[in-house]
Amino acid sequence: MNFNQCPLCGSSAIQRKHGRYRFAVKDKHVTSPVIQYWACPACGETFFDREANKKIDEALLARSKKRAHSAIHAVASRDRGSAVSSGLGMGREEAGKHVLASLRK
Ligand SMILES: [Zn+2]
Repeated sequence: MNFNQCPLCGSSAIQRKHGRYRFAVKDKHVTSPVIQYWACPACGETFFDREANKKIDEALLARSKKRAHSAIHAVASRDRGSAVSSGLGMGREEAGKHVLASLRK
């Protein structure tokens, strides 16, 4: 999958990103594995392709299975992910949740 322009607003400024993506599921914050995704600086929306969605699903599944170890897991994820995620325009967990929900229909 590739975008020459943003599917939402049509901007050609859409950028391909590679890294961890942080998003919120219910009230929990989850950091994805390293994935490829697209982010539009014009409207701020983020798009995930099928492969990225699969990896996110696996991360969510692993998280739900490892709930007993979630405290340890969360610390490990934060340490590994901080350097990568900080420069990618994060903090749009609501938008990420919205896109994930819409792509799963
Ligand atoms: Zn856009």
